[in-house]
Amino acid sequence: MNNRYAWLEEEWRQLDQHSLARALHTVEPMSKDGGAWIHVSGQRLLNLSSNNYLGLAHDKRIVEAGMQAAQTWGAGGTASRLVNGNYTLYEELERQLAAWKEREGALVFANGYQANTGVISAMVGRGDAVFSDRLNHASIVDGIILGRANHYRYRHNDLEHLEYLLREQRGGRRKWIITDSIFSMDGDMAPLTALVELRDRYDAMLMVDEAHGGGVRGEQGQGLCHEAGLANQVDVLMGTFSKAFGVYGAYVCADEVVIRHLTNKARSLIYSTALPPFVIGSVLEALQLIQTETWRRVAVRRNARLFRHLLRLRGFSVEEGDTPIIPLAIGENELTLQYSRKLRERGIAAVAIRPPTVPAGSARIRFTVMATHTRADLEWAADQLKGIRDEL
Ligand code: PMP
Repeated sequence: MNNRYAWLEEEWRQLDQHSLARALHTVEPMSKDGGAWIHVSGQRLLNLSSNNYLGLAHDKRIVEAGMQAAQTWGAGGTASRLVNGNYTLYEELERQLAAWKEREGALVFANGYQANTGVISAMVGRGDAVFSDRLNHASIVDGIILGRANHYRYRHNDLEHLEYLLREQRGGRRKWIITDSIFSMDGDMAPLTALVELRDRYDAMLMVDEAHGGGVRGEQGQGLCHEAGLANQVDVLMGTFSKAFGVYGAYVCADEVVIRHLTNKARSLIYSTALPPFVIGSVLEALQLIQTETWRRVAVRRNARLFRHLLRLRGFSVEEGDTPIIPLAIGENELTLQYSRKLRERGIAAVAIRPPTVPAGSARIRFTVMATHTRADLEWAADQLKGIRDEL
């Protein structure tokens, strides 16, 4: 009999053969400890794979604020913001975001993926040139594809390569430079000051994705651009509510003229339903806590330095730094999976990151630390990892 799905079986076989297959794991409700520990399929695991950097996802005040918003406004967004979904809650959030980021305006999107695809495809068009760091997030790449611009990928954080490409395209149509602030799979930082200089020298525009910088950097958690004193220099500042905020959603901050353009042209905003009121209510509370509970930012940076130090003490090669993303380079897909499986057997959730999320041959365990991990948690985890290396 003709099997209509034979091609899917074949695609699966290929993935499996190269240790690239992915599957979903079931996480059960719990968490009285700021999300540092989770239950997966009945097993209690130290969570070293969460983007909940500040431990806010389970904060009672945030959950309560969300519930109050839901009680006032209902469960659903009910329509696009351009139809009837633009609750006053949204406007309050955008006002607060713009003030926090010291920019003229802000615009909230459903999530980071939709913000990047919507914003980039609205800002670029055929014949424009986008210069994008090779390690930028997939949603940036997809936005460039949707915008039909010419896509120039520069070597990771390589300013000479970027300048070479900019020089080659001199005199063309509009030019955009786009970068993550903290790179999602490598945990290193973009050279923002130099990127602003190149933007000026080549008459380009600059967009920075602060998904991993928001909440954890900057005096009030505004992100790495603020920390570098560049808040007003970057044309489009993008960030998410799904990581340090512990909730969901995303935003951009920019000049009013940019916000107006996006409101008219960003298709992911126009043709998609507004976020549910629960989410906006929760994000408003999280934004307050991010600004006031400075100890969380201090703790996550301390833990980031500490875990790197503990791994290095045990002979692992990790870069020094204080961002919460700590990749342990392994290389081969199968070996990386083995590390991840063994970590889990020993009570640690730390996922294997494989291509196409990272370049071929650079599979890794991506550890992330949180403000709510204790020193004992991290020491224990580093010991487990050493034990696994000795076994393998
Ligand atoms: N940008 C970066 C740098 C990210 O790491 C992510 C999330 N992994 C996103 C955008 C997408 O954000 P979201 O999960 O809110 O869709």
